[in-house]
Amino acid sequence: MLFKRLTEGILEILFPKVCTVCGLRLATNENFVCNNCLESKFEEAYQPGKRSTRDIMLPEGVYLQHALWNFDKGGYLQEVLHQLKYNRLTGVGEDIGRQLGKSMLRHPEFMNRVKGRKVRLLPVPLHPKKYRMRGYNQAFYIAKGVAEVTNLHIIDKNTVQRIKNTGTQTGYSLEKRRKNIDGAFKVTVPEKVKDVLCVIIDDVFTTGATTFELSSELKKIGCGEIMIATVAQA
Ligand SMILES: [Zn+2]
Repeated sequence: MLFKRLTEGILEILFPKVCTVCGLRLATNENFVCNNCLESKFEEAYQPGKRSTRDIMLPEGVYLQHALWNFDKGGYLQEVLHQLKYNRLTGVGEDIGRQLGKSMLRHPEFMNRVKGRKVRLLPVPLHPKKYRMRGYNQAFYIAKGVAEVTNLHIIDKNTVQRIKNTGTQTGYSLEKRRKNIDGAFKVTVPEKVKDVLCVIIDDVFTTGATTFELSSELKKIGCGEIMIATVAQA
């Protein structure tokens, strides 16, 4: 333990961790991107008065689709989300989750809707095979950050499961994505979802194929209402 702390201390002096966006030194409670950059460097997707930041028709039962930032292909945000997904940088997930949570608190439609209701945050589940390979669910860490600032609870683990291992959807057309994801989710503990307002949490909203499929599954078993909140939208 002492040795670990010592080597960490020496490494910190030799190679101080810097913010990947601005290059300034990170504080000990910052991960990968400094708080200053998280507050100011990415483009907000929010559009006042609209129920979808992507400006699309939402399926029945989905009341709101909210993304915090617009995706910047090849930019810093893509790099941050990549680090979260593939390099075990779960701390950055919580950081951006807190930013997402703050933006939800500023969203009047969101706040009006959750008032006085039983609400649960639902990170999009990973297939067990993928979970074992990656070791963690990145959406869970985003939800953790959201929970911290909104005081909303994350739904109990395994209430909803991913029963189909879909692989990557990148490069697929909407139709192909829909077909690929059809039947991917199963609500295993329906009473935990019934009449509950579920806020689905994910990293990126692209065509909505994944979150809409999950929504339709929730709807089938009598979920109260659905909102979708993601860090980015492409
Ligand atoms: Zn920075």
